[in-house]
Amino acid sequence: MKLAMIGFGQAGGKILDTFLEHDEQAGSNIVRAAVAVNTAKADLMGLEHVPEENRVLIGQSRVKGHGVGADNELGAEIAEEDIDEIQGAIDDIPVHEVDAFLVITGLGGGTGSGGSPVLARHIKRIYTEPVYGLGILPAGDEGGIYTLNAARSFQTLVREVDNLLVFDNDAWRKTGESMQGGYAQINEEIVKRFGILFGAGEVEQGGEVAESVVDSSEIINTLAGGGVSTVGYAAESVADEKESGGILSRFTGSKEESSLDSANTTNRITSLVRKAALGRLTLPCEIEGAERALLVTAGPSKFLNRKGIERGRKWLEEQTGSMEVRGGDYPVEASDNVAAVVLLSGVTNVPRIKELQQVAIEAQENIGEIESESEQNLQELVEDDDDELEPLF
Ligand code: GDP
Repeated sequence: MKLAMIGFGQAGGKILDTFLEHDEQAGSNIVRAAVAVNTAKADLMGLEHVPEENRVLIGQSRVKGHGVGADNELGAEIAEEDIDEIQGAIDDIPVHEVDAFLVITGLGGGTGSGGSPVLARHIKRIYTEPVYGLGILPAGDEGGIYTLNAARSFQTLVREVDNLLVFDNDAWRKTGESMQGGYAQINEEIVKRFGILFGAGEVEQGGEVAESVVDSSEIINTLAGGGVSTVGYAAESVADEKESGGILSRFTGSKEESSLDSANTTNRITSLVRKAALGRLTLPCEIEGAERALLVTAGPSKFLNRKGIERGRKWLEEQTGSMEVRGGDYPVEASDNVAAVVLLSGVTNVPRIKELQQVAIEAQENIGEIESESEQNLQELVEDDDDELEPLF
């Protein structure tokens, strides 16, 4: 699936950068165009893979390249005001060559949190291609303002995009590790999952497994209908078997497939599907009730056993209760792993979002109280007790 990716704000830019790095290394060619947008000049300069001409600094007259400091209302205003500058960069995208737009952003900050819903609405008005969001939830310990920003941005962005894919930093934070240090690793995890998902639709049709290869229309159909999505992933090394399979087939002269124990291959795939769906999702949630799902199994084609995939798909139907579970493979001959990626679209039973909203409401109330208290305190400080002094004017 060919995407035009727009990284909004610092997190958005860095994740976009990681997508580009992955694309170059794996030769997967899913990022057809990459644009980074920010109000902070330093963040744009820190990117390594986004072409310089595709880095758009907005809000210069308002914040002079210094960012909006977690003020997402200001982020939204600036995006409105400078939408033409962003559009200028999008104009250079060969849109007829892309299947969809992906707007990537950290929901808890200011620039991307406020700006990305404005941009998504703008792109949707102009183009017919679907516009997806990849929104990052802040970790719980980032504080009230980030949680409040994220809760408000989530609510706004989900309405503006065709589907909001969510990644929760909180579920991925390693204890004892600073968030900053952990971001690079977390971004790798993000890109691994979404890279397989979107890369799956990019395999050249042809060869033995052609009819079971995932097509980009299957990804689009799974995401159609809107709402919120989450992704699961599980992988297992097959490096040893790759070797032994080769040796065995040389000795026996048999076909490679017959040298592999097909029952083992089937079981491996079904257990990977379970691990992917029941393990840590990008947004932890109950999978029951998901409206649509897509199962992608990736790896060397001789390990992508049809029976296993079909069983995995059926199991997903039972677990989600959905009638719309698609499945297919993504042959990657050079890989030493077999992986299962499960996209669950239209999930609604997400306790993490409810908890985020609760904390956000409390933060909002506290912020209101503190503001009025500090106004009162300042007044008490400045005014003399008996009102004997007069200000100059
Ligand atoms: P902005 O530049 O004002 O849009 O804000 P940031 O993108 O700096 O921060 C928004 C939120 O994104 C933060 O609260 C973090 O939760 C998250 N974040 C920042 N950088 C990264 C990153 O590199 N990776 C991930 N996964 N999350 C990040």
